[in-house]
Amino acid sequence: MISADRPRAALNMENPSIVYRYNDGLYINLTNRCPTACSFCIKNKWGMEYRGSNLDLGGTEPSPAEVIALARKEWETAPFSELVFCGYGEPTMRLEALLACARLIKTGRAESVPRGMRIRLNTNGLANAVWGRNVVLEMKGLIDSVHVSLNTADPDQWKALMRPMDPWAASGFEKVKEFIREAALLLPETFATAVDNGETDLEKFKDLAARLGAEPRIRPRLDDEVIA
Ligand code: SF4
Repeated sequence: MISADRPRAALNMENPSIVYRYNDGLYINLTNRCPTACSFCIKNKWGMEYRGSNLDLGGTEPSPAEVIALARKEWETAPFSELVFCGYGEPTMRLEALLACARLIKTGRAESVPRGMRIRLNTNGLANAVWGRNVVLEMKGLIDSVHVSLNTADPDQWKALMRPMDPWAASGFEKVKEFIREAALLLPETFATAVDNGETDLEKFKDLAARLGAEPRIRPRLDDEVIA
């Protein structure tokens, strides 16, 4: 476990990590932009570091070609079991790049990375609100699993926990629910996740997740999956 006060100099903090390993997965850090400032986010406390990787892209976002080249290199070093769009930022803020990466893999154009590679998206679920359309339709056939950070069944608590930016504060909770419903219909696997903060009514949360068609998943407060 990395402590919050670990000296930055002890780590490779000069070079931002576009990809990083965790468990059996290869995680992709596409952007540092977020439409939320989640109260449980550890990026500030951990100084943009995550388990030894510097996830601060410094305003320079990687192209799909760069991501795929790095994934190929990683695969050739040691195979991984899934690719996870995650990181200190909301991956769907770069929807086109995310879909392009997934398409390159699923069509076998990532060379050594197998086209059957499982692709997971960890998200705060605001993509339909941000892009003004049902983007889940565009993910069909490209994203195998989606983990949506819903966190509560209560709209006011959602606002307090997720701290959405103004444009998404009023309608955001309903839009996240809509995203989950669509994902449960169109994608092979959909989880609704909640951070166990000791204050959320987890039974109500599980009930809502089930009504939306998703599997509920409760996460510890400092989880291995940092995205929302
Ligand atoms: S938890 Fe994820 S979505 Fe929420 S503010 Fe942090 S990086 Fe952004």
